[in-house]
Amino acid sequence: MAQISIRALLLTLAVCGTTSTALAQDRGTLDPKPLPPLEKPDDPSTPAKELFGRKPTPAPLATRSIGYYTSGCLAGAKALPINGPTWQVMRLSRNRNWGHPDLIKFLERLANKAPKVGWPGLLVGDMAQPRGGPMLTGHWSHQVGLDADIWLTPMPDREFTRAEREELSATNVVADDWNDINPAIWSPAHIAVLKAAAQDNDVERVLVNPAIKKALCRDVTGDRSWLHKLRPVFGHNYHFHVRIGCPKGSTDCKAQPPIPTDDGCGKDLDWWFTEKARNPPPGPGRKPLKMSQLPPACKQVLLAP
Ligand SMILES: [Zn+2]
Repeated sequence: MAQISIRALLLTLAVCGTTSTALAQDRGTLDPKPLPPLEKPDDPSTPAKELFGRKPTPAPLATRSIGYYTSGCLAGAKALPINGPTWQVMRLSRNRNWGHPDLIKFLERLANKAPKVGWPGLLVGDMAQPRGGPMLTGHWSHQVGLDADIWLTPMPDREFTRAEREELSATNVVADDWNDINPAIWSPAHIAVLKAAAQDNDVERVLVNPAIKKALCRDVTGDRSWLHKLRPVFGHNYHFHVRIGCPKGSTDCKAQPPIPTDDGCGKDLDWWFTEKARNPPPGPGRKPLKMSQLPPACKQVLLAP
């Protein structure tokens, strides 16, 4: 099983050509060590992730999401409690269970609804860092406190130990050839929880592996009005990623372009299964963001006590 996970991990990396894919199966530790202080934190060339990655507490400022999902930060963040009646936070050592209060409310709402549709509860992966911003590992987005990863593993009917929360692997629901879901694992309850997430009014997008989108396009009958919110993105085979819209009052939050209103089951989806999509020519790669590339208000967020 561990071997399979590692193979899937390597394939994910190969397909995406980057380590920036969020990997729910990355292990954590029971004994997280604080990062060593930076020698020159004020050097403008310092990657912003080195600065935000060293802030263990939220900025005690008026709550707002600042900037864009892939270049921004978060003031006045709230933490999702690590245990709820129908959710548990995983990988506590990462300290990424922070978000805008609207995201916390959404997760509580979805966790409450989940058992009613056949999904016993949520295992919540990465949300945002205490002050948002770029992360040292894992994601390009998740910067403004409006993104959350939810494992494609149903919550068991017991509380996980701290060690289990760091070490257990999430479930890969996609087949080894990446062309479809794994029918031995995939279930109607997976569809139900994705539908419940997509039907929430605050949710703008739910990111899933193209193979998952393909399965939904094929298998969802009746009401298909929520399918357009399910967006194919490589990775996302161990977890799905939910993104809510800019909250009221976050005037510096930059909204995403609206998604097409059709179900997204046509040609655009087919593209994800082409050789070109899977093995793109190597590009220049993305350079880590510097503070000067984030909204100026993120400097106050970073420097707040
Ligand atoms: Zn994510």
